[in-house]
Amino acid sequence: MVYTDLNPPSRTLLGPGPTMAHPRVLRSMATPLLGYIDPEFHKIMDEVQELLRFVFQTSNNLTLPISGTGSAGMEASLCNFIEPGDHVVVGVNGFFGGRIAEIASRYGAEVSCIEKSWGQVFSPNEIESALSKKPTKMLALVHAETSTGALQPMDGIGEIAHRHDALLLLDTVTSLSGVPLKIDEWNVDIAYSASQKCLSCPPGMAPITISDRAVEIIRQRKSKVANWYLDLSLIEKYWSDSRQYHHTVPINLIYALREGLRMVQEEGLEARHSRHRSMAELLWSGLESLGFELHVTKEHRLPMLTTPVLYSKIDDAAIRNKLLDDYNIEIAGGFGPLAGKVWRIGLMGHSSRRENVVLLLAALGDLID
Ligand SMILES: *Cc1c(COP(=O)(O)O)cnc(C)c1O
Repeated sequence: MVYTDLNPPSRTLLGPGPTMAHPRVLRSMATPLLGYIDPEFHKIMDEVQELLRFVFQTSNNLTLPISGTGSAGMEASLCNFIEPGDHVVVGVNGFFGGRIAEIASRYGAEVSCIEKSWGQVFSPNEIESALSKKPTKMLALVHAETSTGALQPMDGIGEIAHRHDALLLLDTVTSLSGVPLKIDEWNVDIAYSASQKCLSCPPGMAPITISDRAVEIIRQRKSKVANWYLDLSLIEKYWSDSRQYHHTVPINLIYALREGLRMVQEEGLEARHSRHRSMAELLWSGLESLGFELHVTKEHRLPMLTTPVLYSKIDDAAIRNKLLDDYNIEIAGGFGPLAGKVWRIGLMGHSSRRENVVLLLAALGDLID
């Protein structure tokens, strides 16, 4: 069998992730490999940690990228804190809240889900009343629900969690660097993200940040973390001065992450947020001109993930297939309760550019008439 050269088509990635990686990010991956014990690599690790603290807006010492995708960050954020019997409250208003609940229960947590229909968000009162019912170790929320397009407001949520002596865990996979995210100011104890959404790196790294208060919970565990690979007390020994081997980290993905983060810093967080916002507004008004309503109210709508409601004239799969085959554009369908009802259009990181919005709207205009 002879295999041809790898030659994937050049797609415009406007789905829920992965997003388009900037050429600078891809180029960084082709620079020479270093060993994981090389002092030159250790310098790069330190820089990645500093840049992550900047992007997360935190001074948390325990801030590093987990080897694995966003779901590995999610699992690390749960398995390091949960001991069997702990009560965990999870906000479920989309797919990823459901995944948090599933993972928490696998580590023996007693999980209480507070539910909302897909596309809605939780109010501080709803959260307060869920935490008032019984002692809670952790409250887990999804900041940017990529399955619905809704942004969870965080005002006051950290204070509520701490008043009830609960850790606040926030999924920031899609929000990191796309909308304002202030880990320290918001009193978030544990947050994880992923390299392939608004950071526009290839998938494979999951940045995570842990407050001192949450680190204390790890130190006081009675049982060993039930997941060896994601045990932060082992991983942090490699990411701190002792550089103790745990696993061989994905060197080139860490190069890519460094470059992606450096580009966030060059652009500036506020400028990056307003770019995401203005490109989203361009998309929203174009979609409305094409006859779409948007599933999430403007107040709670994510700039980086838009869910237009499909109307009767729209053949969901046929149009998405044509976008891919004839225009090289990827968008995604809805899933769960939103399957067949909405599309999911992502404008994240390097994908969030005027030329992409204009191309997508023009293509949709051609396909819908
Ligand atoms: C993509 C995503 C995840 C999962 O990340 P993977 O990289 O696919 O493992 C988790 N939470 C949210 C909100 C996401 O958008």
